[in-house]
Amino acid sequence: MKLHNLVILGTGGTIAGQALSASDNIGYTAAQVGIDQLLAAIPALAERGPFITEQVAQIDSKDMSFAVWAQLAARVNHFLARDEVQGIVITHGSDTLEETAYFLQAVCRPAKPVVLTCAMRPATALAPDGPQNILDAVAVARYHGARGVVAVCAGTIHNALDVQKMHSYKLDAFSSGDAGPIGYVEEGSLRLVRNWPVVQVEYASLAIENIAIWPRVEIIMNYVGASDALVQALVDQGVRGLVVAATGNGTLHHALQAGLLKAQAAGVRVVRSTRCVDGRVLPLPGDAIADSKGLSPVKARVALMLDLLAEDAQVVASRQA
Ligand code: ASP
Repeated sequence: MKLHNLVILGTGGTIAGQALSASDNIGYTAAQVGIDQLLAAIPALAERGPFITEQVAQIDSKDMSFAVWAQLAARVNHFLARDEVQGIVITHGSDTLEETAYFLQAVCRPAKPVVLTCAMRPATALAPDGPQNILDAVAVARYHGARGVVAVCAGTIHNALDVQKMHSYKLDAFSSGDAGPIGYVEEGSLRLVRNWPVVQVEYASLAIENIAIWPRVEIIMNYVGASDALVQALVDQGVRGLVVAATGNGTLHHALQAGLLKAQAAGVRVVRSTRCVDGRVLPLPGDAIADSKGLSPVKARVALMLDLLAEDAQVVASRQA
């Protein structure tokens, strides 16, 4: 039986990084090797094709931008719409992978698998982790029953909603927190430890590629001695949304809370997340500031930006009606 095409999109990252010495795992430059060259170094892929490849960007993901996001979402939508495409693998830097994963899930809502993968060591390392991660990502994208955006790293499959980078250096750098991973890739086979998640994040009607100005949403944090100074400065600059990485179960220093409530009263959208790595802000009746519905601060920021974009689109549509 002829296998359907898998699309592999390159965006850069450490997986495409190069160092001067093979023993250097940290002093490298990310995003140097093209996607075709990366794949050519993995002979085992030959049996898992056919593939369509495209270099969508070549950046260190610390520099990920809204423009690249828009382009990536457009290419993902383009390929997902083709009947002969089974799924998509995206090579990405590990630093902001969880934000891109959430963004693509929210705006593309793929019924087919979209698998993000990365590496913690550059392509030139003595023992690079990228080739195995790509092979594993391809196995996931080829799995019947896989759908939606997931991340694959170090043999573990994470849901876009749960995945978070937890370690700055180890190869197994990601966690799904309380939810746990979807499963594992073992020698090319999948071992699922929970049902494949049905993810509902819905902003698909947004025409992402036409967005000229993304709403400014910033993240601030609660900590000892926090004040309202940053909130005030951001409000003065016209910020439209603020996500606060609160302490514990959404607690805020009284001075920061006062600043946030003032900002909210002035029309700024405020969302409370937690700086705790696991757990979520559990809402209480009558909370003055909305909670992030379990999203981490960085994902809550993406959700708030998309919310504001959807609101803006509605305003434009009602003006045109
Ligand atoms: N700074 C790199 C990036 O995110 C780190 C990595 O890929 O692991 O592109």
